[in-house]
Amino acid sequence: MSITQEIRELINENIEIPDDILMSIFEFSGANLMEIFSLALELKEKYTGKKINFCSIVSAKTGICSEDCSFCGQSSVAGKKEKKIKVNPLMSVSEIVEAAKIAKKNGANEFSIVTSGTRISDKTELKTIAEAVKTIKNEIGITPCASLGLMEYEDLLFLKECGLEIFHHNIETNSDFFKSICSTHSFEDNIKTVKSARKAGLKVCSGVIIGMGESRFDRIKMAKEIKELEVDNIPINFLNPIKGTPLENIEPLTPMECLKTIAMFRIVNPKKNILAQGGREYNLRQLQPLALMSGANGLLLGNYLLTSGRNPELDLELINDLGFEANNLINSPI
Ligand code: SF4
Repeated sequence: MSITQEIRELINENIEIPDDILMSIFEFSGANLMEIFSLALELKEKYTGKKINFCSIVSAKTGICSEDCSFCGQSSVAGKKEKKIKVNPLMSVSEIVEAAKIAKKNGANEFSIVTSGTRISDKTELKTIAEAVKTIKNEIGITPCASLGLMEYEDLLFLKECGLEIFHHNIETNSDFFKSICSTHSFEDNIKTVKSARKAGLKVCSGVIIGMGESRFDRIKMAKEIKELEVDNIPINFLNPIKGTPLENIEPLTPMECLKTIAMFRIVNPKKNILAQGGREYNLRQLQPLALMSGANGLLLGNYLLTSGRNPELDLELINDLGFEANNLINSPI
């Protein structure tokens, strides 16, 4: 039996796919490569349909953070080296709402309010975000999401009651590798936030960054740990090394390695929304369209936190050219 057939049968029987089979995905090449991408595409279409979801973010608060996440341009480590990091306090309600209007106009169906820092501990800031969420939900017609760092259950419940639908909090990497990229908070802190968001009744978007020096096995472990969390959306980010960070000189993954990782994530999490997010231009280069042919069913539209994304019109054109459709359903479960 071929490996793809074996994987298909394991998925159909709801049996966990052994690590050695997942590792073999990375060895596919040439004509065989299409077999594994074809399987990932088949699973994507079977479980999530043909529509492609688009989300968009606003960096509502920027500035140096006390945490030392080695991939982040706003970390305490980057801040010591790079004096030019822009520090902006939290945007006003009207500024956040204006950004949501633009995201909607560009074709996004989900809009995330993102803030730098460990957490939102200032209740005035929490109220501003809650007010923006209410307005976005009631007046703009785009699904409101927030990414606010580590959060307590009570604050998440408050945001849910104000209309928040999705909470985003990446686990970043797996439980073993996490210590190599951050020492100021723990992997368990991230898990606690993700679980609190689920307990508050929010949909959860939680994913990873690949290309930070982890092994293939580390990526398999990420995909399996995410599966255990039963989140709704899994964003896969590709490291775009930022000057001043400890990872500034790391070699990027090859585009093919990124695509095989997307396929592996789809195979481990066949029914979830898998999104190709930040850093796809830098890492996938000319192969960006293949992200949607190797298992992803969503893209981050427009700019990222500290780096520019590509023109949203190009992404809309891309999905048309591939024969997919943009998901314009408001409040769709991305
Ligand atoms: S907690 Fe967030 S803002 Fe702070 S260093 Fe880590 S990733 Fe950057």
